[in-house]
Amino acid sequence: ATATATAPAAAPRSAELFARARAALPGGVNSPVRAYGSVGGTPRFLVSAHGPYVVDADGREYVDLVCSWGPAILGHAHPAVVDAVQRAAARGLSFGAPTPSETELAEEILRRVPAAERVRLVSTGTEATMTAVRLARGITGRDLIVKFAGCYHGHVDGLLAQAGSGVATLALPGSAGVTAATAAETIVLPYNDLAAVEAAFAERGDRIAAVITEASPANMGVVPPLPGFNAALARIAHAHGALLIQDEVLTGFRVSPAGWWGLEGRAEGWAPDLFAFGKVIGGGLPVAAIAGPAALMDQLAPLGPVYQAGTLSGNPVATAAGLATLRAADAGVYARMDDVAAQLGDAVSAALSAAGVAHGIQRAGSLFSVMFGADAAAGVRDYAGAQAQETYRYAPFFHAMLAGGVNLPPSVFEAWFVSAAHDDAALDRIVAALPAAARAAAA
Ligand code: PLP
Repeated sequence: ATATATAPAAAPRSAELFARARAALPGGVNSPVRAYGSVGGTPRFLVSAHGPYVVDADGREYVDLVCSWGPAILGHAHPAVVDAVQRAAARGLSFGAPTPSETELAEEILRRVPAAERVRLVSTGTEATMTAVRLARGITGRDLIVKFAGCYHGHVDGLLAQAGSGVATLALPGSAGVTAATAAETIVLPYNDLAAVEAAFAERGDRIAAVITEASPANMGVVPPLPGFNAALARIAHAHGALLIQDEVLTGFRVSPAGWWGLEGRAEGWAPDLFAFGKVIGGGLPVAAIAGPAALMDQLAPLGPVYQAGTLSGNPVATAAGLATLRAADAGVYARMDDVAAQLGDAVSAALSAAGVAHGIQRAGSLFSVMFGADAAAGVRDYAGAQAQETYRYAPFFHAMLAGGVNLPPSVFEAWFVSAAHDDAALDRIVAALPAAARAAAA
């Protein structure tokens, strides 16, 4: 009934919890975007989740389009995953020794992405990209890294320059605390701009260790690579003796059974040198990975000189969650996610058009996001384009959806995440909330 309100709805219990949290945690959160900084209002404190729904501390249920920022492709608390976790937990939480399930998870990853031959498990996507960069430097003996504006690779010092995600949400140029020396080792280029890549390599190609790129960027909103862009990155990097690191932390095992590579590289007959994975391979618990050919991966310790380690790496409970998730993620799961994303993208677009709001729906497989404004309607190809949209329309849109029972990402610079558990009832609820949100965005 309050769905036409543009002011944030009251959430008394969450407000109380947020006040308490702010006295204990910086900003009341453990990851910045959760604080609702760019949309205002009270972040919803969530207490449970099931299927396509999350439930907040005030007892309200929302259809969830955050899905833990990616891992929950089966929906929340999937019985097979919960069961695997419970059984693993009963056997012990962490051993600090090799376990059978680590190998099983690595084998499942390699079965899906045969372009890789070895996997090193870590706990977060940040560790995966950090290690991939160190490995590339160790292999090439070079210092410089090329990254793209608007791409987020976790909070690695050298990769925070013009990063998307929370760095974009908070409109930061990078981060305090990154040394000038570190920043100077990162070359930041506009996304989808091969001429800029060619020019950077022409100038400093003998010093570049690697190009790191999101396989299909989704942290400046969704901005897919132009056809041939990723393949050209591999070609240019290799011509100069550098590596291509494809960050599939977000896209991996979400956009297809073999991630973005399964939609693009495999069909085109090429692969990056190193992959970074995360999110889905932990099924909601902390697992991420670096993967690639044996000749490169074996440069990691204990075989090679590039050091990397982790107390909780390959944790038995976390790997059980990841394995159960991947094993349950059959072709039907991917088909459903694609279908849900297509239906939702069309419904959002129809509602915004009916309210007279110029917009574009940016799609990459089952990932999509909305960008506001006439320029965005023509299609956004890079970070400058994403930043130039009418971002002020998102907060009222977001809050009207929240009031209508839909949990969207609390930032216009994030992708919308669907799951195979988003059934028609969940879709109906989203569609019902859209007209009021579109009118709020028009105001
Ligand atoms: N790379 C990409 C493409 C991501 O989207 C993220 C997180 O959103 C990361 C890396 C960092 O992963 P984590 O948050 O697990 O450190």
